[in-house]
Amino acid sequence: MLIVMKSDATREQVEGVKGRIREIGFTANEIPGPTRVAIGITGNEGPIDPGLFTQLPGIAEAIPISRPWKLVSREVKPDDTVVRLGANAQIGGGHFGIIAGPCAVEGREQLNLAAHAVKRAGAHFLRGGAFKPRTSPYSFQGLKEDGLKLLAEAREATGLPVVTEVMDTRDVPLVARYADVLQVGARNMQNFSLLEAVGEQGKPVMLKRGLSATIQEFMMAAEYILKQGNYQVILCERGIRTFETMTRNTMDLGSIPLIKRLTHLPIIIDPSHGTGDRQSVPPLARAAVALGADGLMVEVHPDPSKALSDGPQSLTPDAFQELMGSLRAIAAVVGKTI
Ligand code: PEP
Ligand code: MN
Repeated sequence: MLIVMKSDATREQVEGVKGRIREIGFTANEIPGPTRVAIGITGNEGPIDPGLFTQLPGIAEAIPISRPWKLVSREVKPDDTVVRLGANAQIGGGHFGIIAGPCAVEGREQLNLAAHAVKRAGAHFLRGGAFKPRTSPYSFQGLKEDGLKLLAEAREATGLPVVTEVMDTRDVPLVARYADVLQVGARNMQNFSLLEAVGEQGKPVMLKRGLSATIQEFMMAAEYILKQGNYQVILCERGIRTFETMTRNTMDLGSIPLIKRLTHLPIIIDPSHGTGDRQSVPPLARAAVALGADGLMVEVHPDPSKALSDGPQSLTPDAFQELMGSLRAIAAVVGKTI
């Protein structure tokens, strides 16, 4: 159920409605938005009788929510959520945001070269994994806290906010000390304790779609984060596992227009993990802009042949620079800024 308050409702009336919701044992979630005050009710198992609320002062409407997810739904919050960090980094709200950098932080020189290259080319955020989810326990696992420190240095040097993955609930406070955006990786999309833990941090979260997750499961995973009071969530479509073996994953581009209708949260595309192949990255990145996605995440390495992870899908700085030019041209056609 969504309670929409009258445009002239007082703060006292809003608090009165929230108190009533709590009295009957449900949770009141005040929905941030520029145009109206609305309160989403969660915690109910079945439908709620609107008559419980319609008599309270200040209420304009009580609307039942038909979807199993509530707070992420456009029914509850019609206006787009925008994630903004400083003057130049924005995802959503008509701005196409670009996150670029190496798969993993490998060392100071590698990260600095990558960070300056993506900054020069016009990226808005720097990515780099310090905690790496690797299929084999014998593969490079990341530099952990040393990697986070290098990311903080690179942010200092370039001004780019940092996006980095947190793999374990126990590491959330540590990663949150260094990161500007906490990434939850595909393999952890349904790690519900981790979702709640990142939801409790006051920092934006980038949630990647699970390898075999349906769109409904993806929305429900995001709901866990919003339920903790954190509405600064960026969704990321990074390809799903299908019968196809010639591509690393199958990019589900058809999910984008649907997700744009279902939720107010911004959605970006990661064609690097989506294809596993550097030659396929630029065309899919261009498709992301044309599709109406809100941004991109692209792996860029100063020397992909020496990368400790995901070299075959990493762009060289030159290729990334060239890609940026074509993205700007397409953005102009679809009325977005980059
Ligand atoms: C990543 O972006 O670093 C990553 C590991 O991606 P995914 O979780 O989508 O596999
Ligand atoms: Mn990678």
